[in-house]
Amino acid sequence: MNLLKRWYYLACGSGKCKKSVTRKDGQLWCDTCNKPVSYPRSRFRLQVDVMDATAQTVIVMWEETASELRRSRRCLMSLMR
Ligand SMILES: [Zn+2]
Repeated sequence: MNLLKRWYYLACGSGKCKKSVTRKDGQLWCDTCNKPVSYPRSRFRLQVDVMDATAQTVIVMWEETASELRRSRRCLMSLMR
């Protein structure tokens, strides 16, 4: 199991909106809320490369899942099966 990529993007922090923000007129803009984003949140995205004898699988985990997995290794193992 190799951790291939780890990156984050800025997401809208308004309410429950977690959409990625774009740049518009020099400020951060959320297309979903249709308003500028003053306090963006960073969301992490992990991409895990899982390889066994027969197949190669790429698992993409979002921040919430990843922190969940960190709490429970057993959960991670069940994902790998
Ligand atoms: Zn938004």
